[in-house]
Amino acid sequence: MKIIMLGAPGAGKGTQAKKIAEKYGIPHISTGDIFRANIKNNTELGKKAKEYMDQGLLVPDELTCDLVTDRIQQDDCSKGFILDGFPRTIPQAEALDKALTAMGQSMDYAVNVDVADENIIDRMSGRRACLKCGATYHIITIPPKSEGICDNCGSELVQREDDKPETVKKRLDVYHEQTQPLIDYYNNQGILRTVDGTKDFEGVFQDIVMILG
Ligand SMILES: [Zn+2]
Repeated sequence: MKIIMLGAPGAGKGTQAKKIAEKYGIPHISTGDIFRANIKNNTELGKKAKEYMDQGLLVPDELTCDLVTDRIQQDDCSKGFILDGFPRTIPQAEALDKALTAMGQSMDYAVNVDVADENIIDRMSGRRACLKCGATYHIITIPPKSEGICDNCGSELVQREDDKPETVKKRLDVYHEQTQPLIDYYNNQGILRTVDGTKDFEGVFQDIVMILG
């Protein structure tokens, strides 16, 4: 089973992807992990990727796709895989399709975890973090025992820059511009399935399992 996970940053697609990978016994593939593994093993592709990253540049679509294509041809992907965070743009999706076609394969599902922007902004802006021990909280869903204080180490909790509404809005704008077109792209291929990402974790997971069978 070959699956692509789609969804806005903060929609929870990463955690769902990990659990789906476990349930179906297929690898969870994120581009971050692939980059790290190739750089660590000093592969030819890894060396090329590192040149861009060292200069603070984005790894070009073609190279990213080469890295993903290399990863999905490994033995552990024989029963399928779940892609998380790739493709991110239409050119990446086209490059992936081209590579899969050359391998005589195609994707089975693109699962879109759908959550409205306002809802994501609410979720993210409730997050609090302890900068001392790394513990994370949420003022509604995982509150600390005493407000604003870390349960583990007693330090003051803060709202990280990444979780501030302005930052979240900026990331959502980039998502709508670059990644949302993939929803139409996969809908046109007939493999798009949308789940209501506002349900709780287990509810969303069960809905995805219903789709995948
Ligand atoms: Zn702490």
